[in-house]
Amino acid sequence: MSDEYRALVEKVDAFTRAAVERRRVDMACQAGCCRCCEVWLSVSAVEAAQLGAGLASLPAEARARIAQRGAREQAREAAGASDARCAMLEDDGRCAVYESRPLVCRTQGHALRYPAGFVPDAAVRARATTGDITYCPLNFTNAPPAAQDVLDAERVDQLLAVVGQRFTQARGQAPEARVAISALAAHADDPPPAPKR
Ligand code: SF4
Ligand code: SF4
Repeated sequence: MSDEYRALVEKVDAFTRAAVERRRVDMACQAGCCRCCEVWLSVSAVEAAQLGAGLASLPAEARARIAQRGAREQAREAAGASDARCAMLEDDGRCAVYESRPLVCRTQGHALRYPAGFVPDAAVRARATTGDITYCPLNFTNAPPAAQDVLDAERVDQLLAVVGQRFTQARGQAPEARVAISALAAHADDPPPAPKR
């Protein structure tokens, strides 16, 4: 893992751990709860490398299973299916690459602040002078998040962009290149696909 990416992940994880500690009673997130994994995500090169390392550390049987799912989800996404499902999601609702999951997954369920107008209206749970706040409807059902529980998601995205740009620059890759998680999964058994512009 890139040292800068590792530092960013550790910072975000520390924030989310502290928020869970404070608001444990209000957080429904747990292993097996996976509505938030009913998506087809793509990641930048630095996160694709992290996911690839996570896949490579899995036993051959798990990689073969993920590769099958990856091919299936790639085909379903290309066909425009309406019921998205991340190829890393196991049948028991757990993430096959939990320790290596990207930042967007690490912050799922937490209260996130974005600039006004960035989040679709239907997903906005509160509006503040500093931006719009969104979080999973299964969470914060007893009381809304306090200011200290809200992560500045725009700042995280900015830092990830800088870290990602340095990562691609060092490798002569296009900074905006992304790779679908389904494609990474489909190649769980062989070298991962190169990110595309
Ligand atoms: S990578 Fe893991 S946590 Fe993220 S959407 Fe896929 S299954 Fe869920
Ligand atoms: S974000 Fe929502 S759907 Fe996802 S694990 Fe947390 S409570 Fe469950």
